[in-house]
Amino acid sequence: MKINGKLIAFIGGLLVIGLVGSLLKGNVFQKRKIIQKQNKKLSVVTTLFPLYDFAKNIGQDKVEVLLLLPPGVGPHGFEPKPSDIVKINESNLFVYTGKFMEPWAEDIIKGSSNKNLKIVDSSSRIEVMKKEEHEDEHAGEHEDEEVGHEHGGVDPHIWLDFDNSKIMIDNIMKALIEKDPANANFYQKSATNYKTKLAQLDNQYRSALSKCESKEIVYGGHYAFGYLGKRYGLAYESAYGISPDSEPSAQDLIKLVEQIRKERIKFVFAEGLLSPRVAETLAKETGSGILYLNPAGNLSKEDFEKNVSFLSIMEENLANLKIGLQCSE
Ligand SMILES: [Zn+2]
Repeated sequence: MKINGKLIAFIGGLLVIGLVGSLLKGNVFQKRKIIQKQNKKLSVVTTLFPLYDFAKNIGQDKVEVLLLLPPGVGPHGFEPKPSDIVKINESNLFVYTGKFMEPWAEDIIKGSSNKNLKIVDSSSRIEVMKKEEHEDEHAGEHEDEEVGHEHGGVDPHIWLDFDNSKIMIDNIMKALIEKDPANANFYQKSATNYKTKLAQLDNQYRSALSKCESKEIVYGGHYAFGYLGKRYGLAYESAYGISPDSEPSAQDLIKLVEQIRKERIKFVFAEGLLSPRVAETLAKETGSGILYLNPAGNLSKEDFEKNVSFLSIMEENLANLKIGLQCSE
């Protein structure tokens, strides 16, 4: 009897421990579930590198950002694959540059069945610029045929003006807040921090580029730096058009060579994602040096692996501009 009583008490004890344990366990699971729900990151799909980098900087650990452009691929001829469209439709936020850079985005907007998807035109409230045309005897020769695949003559590289970048950041920030109002303060703060860094860089550009021997950027790449040139009072000539898909003609190159000689330009700038052949030809013909200038629309595979940022690209661009244009600062 005595032994049996002990046994019963023992078994009873085990049952109680088991019950409490399973209750605790349930509680822990429940807690974990809630935390998971709270930690669920907003999924953001972006088209071009600047948007990707801006969204990551504003959202940080609260967002999962995807860049549609594969590393090393230029942004101009890009069309999304069916799998990209699926990714866009499954995301919370789709951020594109604007209708001139990604004319295909409109179809995606119309075709999307996901009511929870927020679509962000980063160029909203930005005044786009037309490509600056220079009067010369060749003007008009191939202008008409260019228009079709040249983004309607509009320069879509809006991010190469830091005031525009700030508006793009605000547009992305507002969309993040709309989707995740609980973290509004966080998004506001990180956007402000990032815009402060852009303002500092803008001041460095303005100061350095006001003290240069040369006021002219000759680019062996495509027409990407019109906004930058305008902002800092620099003339800008490029061998290729707004989109780099059509090769410059022999006449275009002869004209540039003449200009380099006449203006005694010491450095020609080259584009990393394009073949350096054109810049090399210009440099060889004129005895000028070559420096890189990166339009930042996308990264090379190597830069992507190194986690290169938009800010670091723009810092490097300024360093090369200072050498190339012989700035005294
Ligand atoms: Zn471009």
